[in-house]
Amino acid sequence: MGLAERYRSVQERISRAALAAGRSEQDVELIVVTKTHPAQLVIELAAMGQLAFGENRDQEAAPKAQEVASAVPNAKWHFVGQLQTNKVKSVLRYASAIHSIDRPSLVKELAKQLENQDQQIDGFIELNLTDDENRGGVNSADLESLTEQVLSVPRIRLLGVMAVAGLGEDPRQEFEKALHLSQWVRKLAPSATALSMGMSEDFEVAISLGATHIRVGSAITGPREYSA
Ligand SMILES: *Cc1c(COP(=O)(O)O)cnc(C)c1O
Repeated sequence: MGLAERYRSVQERISRAALAAGRSEQDVELIVVTKTHPAQLVIELAAMGQLAFGENRDQEAAPKAQEVASAVPNAKWHFVGQLQTNKVKSVLRYASAIHSIDRPSLVKELAKQLENQDQQIDGFIELNLTDDENRGGVNSADLESLTEQVLSVPRIRLLGVMAVAGLGEDPRQEFEKALHLSQWVRKLAPSATALSMGMSEDFEVAISLGATHIRVGSAITGPREYSA
């Protein structure tokens, strides 16, 4: 299967999963995660009508976004990986959404750089669904205070939460946990209803549980050159 076939096949699976869940496919935004793949692949997907792309490392994303910008000025970049504070300034040059807001120091740096650059951004609070503190995402115990902090920064438009299902875990149970935690966020921010969850292996389950943004890489791009 080539890129176009894989892309169309995933689109069909999204439609079917939305239909089965009694949802409109328009309510599920597909973000194609292009990490490890060249700008050319992004440009080819854009020619098929895909304009939302995801990356997880600034070192790779910054030059790629710049290369894509001349061919596809309306491409939209979602930053989905763990974000170091010293990369915030660079990421804000190309990203329109950050899915990995997970700690106070990051919110502080975002606030500072957004102010400096007189800019706004869409944000998702990333949930850590595991007991492993080293994983990205905020623990449930710190979720409420982090949400309050994000809401104190008007330049971040909080859309909702993001979650990655743990390796070897049942994605349905993982996404149910995310849904449950999302309710805490919505108590403080009623409009933050978005759910960024679902990847190549589990996006249909995620759609059945209400995902509004799915981040699909290898099912569309093909296997990655190296693990990222
Ligand atoms: C790589 C990545 C994806 C896409 O993963 P696939 O399994 O290739 O679909 C989604 N979300 C995040 C945060 C990622 O790092």
